[in-house]
Amino acid sequence: MVGLTLALALAQGGVSVSVADPVPPSVLTNSAFDGRVTALSYAAVRMLKVLGVWEYVATEAQPISDILVTDAALGSPPSALSLHFDHREIGEPMGAIAENRHIRRALFAALEGTGVRLIAPAAVTAIEPNGGFIDATLSNGERLRAHLAVGADGRESPLRERMGLRTVAWSYPQVGIVATVQHERPHNGTAYEHFLSSGPFAILPMVAASHSEAVGQYPTNRSSLVWTEREELAPALLELPPELFAAEVERRFGDHLGAIEVVGARWSYPLRFHLARGYVAPRFALAGDSAHGIHPIAGQGLNLGLKDAAALAECVLESVRLGLDAGDAEALRRYERWRRFDSFVLAAATDGLNRLFSNDITPVRAIRDVGLGIVDAIGPLRRLFMRNAGGDLGQLPRLMRGEPA
Ligand SMILES: Cc1cc2nc3c(=O)[nH]c(=O)nc-3n(C[C@H](O)[C@H](O)[C@H](O)COP(=O)(O)OP(=O)(O)OC[C@H]3O[C@@H](n4cnc5c(N)ncnc54)[C@H](O)[C@@H]3O)c2cc1C
Repeated sequence: MVGLTLALALAQGGVSVSVADPVPPSVLTNSAFDGRVTALSYAAVRMLKVLGVWEYVATEAQPISDILVTDAALGSPPSALSLHFDHREIGEPMGAIAENRHIRRALFAALEGTGVRLIAPAAVTAIEPNGGFIDATLSNGERLRAHLAVGADGRESPLRERMGLRTVAWSYPQVGIVATVQHERPHNGTAYEHFLSSGPFAILPMVAASHSEAVGQYPTNRSSLVWTEREELAPALLELPPELFAAEVERRFGDHLGAIEVVGARWSYPLRFHLARGYVAPRFALAGDSAHGIHPIAGQGLNLGLKDAAALAECVLESVRLGLDAGDAEALRRYERWRRFDSFVLAAATDGLNRLFSNDITPVRAIRDVGLGIVDAIGPLRRLFMRNAGGDLGQLPRLMRGEPA
């Protein structure tokens, strides 16, 4: 998603771009490939609008009007102190939720006619700076030569490894379980985050299932779960028969939306943290999960990657407009200075939040409940959190301000 977005931004700025991926578009946009939804911040939505992507995903995206955060113990009611973010306080929805497959489909649709060359299936198998260029070899035997190569190749990032960019990394003893539920009552655009001792349990509102995909009892009332569970318990939970799995979901979900039904497949994602020590090398840059992998507690991983794409496009296009080439070293250094600090701050904040909330130690629980209550009670602080979640803090790239790069 980050690589396609960057390709689009660069192509719209007049740069000639090729994108290689070992997975073809037909698989990347298939519901069997990725069960996740993404909570896109409003800054990310602004960017997708400028790039002409939003028109292809808008009908599949659910605006987020409210977010309710509660500190809950499994099997007992949530703490009385909870936090409510209401979009009316900032005048626009706090973002939107769309299935990853629909975001990818929209990106592929927007790329048509832009001149971007899509080479898939084909992995980059070797990459090497070569004087004023960088050379890449693909698994189909093709060789590419460019002024700049970007590794937007995800968490494992073979390109990061090949370019010798090291990371700081650790695994969380948690797994992200993802599933879709239907519920009796409408969600009205409200996202819920229940902090349980095993980790956050997020309920993300989705648009109604399309007519052709409607299954289950309440296809118009759907939400996606991101259930963070202890690593040692997750395999057994994922193997439970449907009625027992549904019962475990119900214990965590609560009854605020009436009866619930789990529909479709269950997914699981190991959760890890990593930050690249450097984001650039000669004629090379990292963007998205190749540069940083953060805990999904605040739903910010892709938003951070889209900000990389916007910032890198801005730095590259500025040097191209000055008559320099797309891999200019000073432009890459500027990109690195800009994005490394921002990513570090968010990565550290999400890591800290996960540690603070994923436990049941009574004094810690008391302190965090007071914290939630304080943020809830103080309007300016609440609005600051909302703007942060909406992606509006820090130095915003032009695309995220709603202007061309
Ligand atoms: C459970 C869960 C929930 C999440 N929820 C949210 C959320 O609500 N909001 C949010 O902002 N983020 C969320 N995230 C994070 C988000 O999913 C990631 O940050 C995002 O997918 C990263 O996108 P990317 O394009 O950088 O990498 P990827 O999506 O991993 O894409 C990498 C691409 O590179 C390709 N590739 C791999 N190797 C090669 C090679 N050698 N050559 C060429 N191509 C290659 C791959 O095939 C793939 O297409 C969540 C993550 C998890 C685990």
